[in-house]
Amino acid sequence: MPVQHRPSRQVRIGAVAVGGGAPIVVQSMTNTDTADAEATARQAFDLARAGSELVRVTVDTARAAAAVPEIRARLDALGCAVPLVGDFHFNGHKLLADHPECAAALAKYRINPGNVGKGARRDEQFAQMIESACRHAKPVRIGVNWGSLDQALLARMMDANAARAEPLAAEAVMREALIASALESAAQAEALGLPGDRIVLSCKVSGVQDLIAVYRELARRCDYPLHLGLTEAGMGSKGIVASAAAMAVLLQEGIGDTIRVSLTPEPGGERTREVVVAQELLQTMGLRSFAPLVIACPGCGRTTSTVFQSLAARIQAFLRAQMPVWREAYPGVEAMHVAVMGCVVNGPGESKQANVGISLPGTGERPVAPVYVDGVKTVTLKGETIAEDFQRIVEDYVRATYGPGGPGRSAGAAAAGERERALAP
Ligand code: SF4
Repeated sequence: MPVQHRPSRQVRIGAVAVGGGAPIVVQSMTNTDTADAEATARQAFDLARAGSELVRVTVDTARAAAAVPEIRARLDALGCAVPLVGDFHFNGHKLLADHPECAAALAKYRINPGNVGKGARRDEQFAQMIESACRHAKPVRIGVNWGSLDQALLARMMDANAARAEPLAAEAVMREALIASALESAAQAEALGLPGDRIVLSCKVSGVQDLIAVYRELARRCDYPLHLGLTEAGMGSKGIVASAAAMAVLLQEGIGDTIRVSLTPEPGGERTREVVVAQELLQTMGLRSFAPLVIACPGCGRTTSTVFQSLAARIQAFLRAQMPVWREAYPGVEAMHVAVMGCVVNGPGESKQANVGISLPGTGERPVAPVYVDGVKTVTLKGETIAEDFQRIVEDYVRATYGPGGPGRSAGAAAAGERERALAP
């Protein structure tokens, strides 16, 4: 079922377009100390190389703000143009004013209206941040967060609710307060002179049902592009499942112009994992293609060895590792499907549907592995080198199909052209 994307304004963040019909943008955030320019630039580079199209960095101290131009310069020297987004809380007004080179090097500022100051200082400091955005011609994300909701606004809304003949439940008032905080802050930013096409909104919460309810309402009430993400999603499979469950419902309804999967990395785990998960979410929903998909069966009692699991893992890692080069050299390859199946029950059928597929021998089957290319059985592999031989077949297929003059190249080039058009000034 095709997804009807919610119409919105388009915001340009550096060379990346968000909303207004542009492809849904994947973004992520560093977890290094931003004052350590070398470490932050390295991680931003790794995130961008993994496919993060925007990278956010914490800007919380004068040292962090002073490091931002160096981070930008280091990325430029590596040939990495990924736009950097500055994440500001509490002292953003001062940091942006005191460090104009930082304000200029960032491609967007994230402002949390719940964390810009208390009482009368709140409006004054919010205005100072918007003035910096206007002065440097930068867009902003007005990013409201459940955990740092504007308490004065919430108290006002709770009082008004209590005075109603039929008061709403406290959760409903909190959701409304999140939305009101985002929309009122956006209106305030526009009144201060920031054009409406330089505003992205987000209202992050940590509950799946809350996120769905809040974004449906936010989408209904404005045409700003929406940054979608479940905050504090958690670790490992819990974080992935919760993010995917919430975001998939909204993405299917056409809501969400840029996404971040906020995963807590496992100790020693890769920060780039959240980028891969975001890409896989969009790709499995058929919304974008980033890297060839490996279709693998779960295995069962018919496969007593782990050969096919190792092959599936090996092919998946191989394909992803090639993407930084293949993306440019073989346009269209990101839509390729590779099947790695455990036995002949579903193996040949699934292999025929893929661009390239292999069925490994199950228990009691002949120790041979038929390979299908574009639905046709081309070779039967056997012996100790099945993995290497299959990888070679996949590589040859990529070169022949997506290389110059290849039959898969036109579809890929058209998709790339579409994306370039979306990103064109
Ligand atoms: S394809 Fe074969 S090995 Fe894989 S799950 Fe199905 S029956 Fe089991």
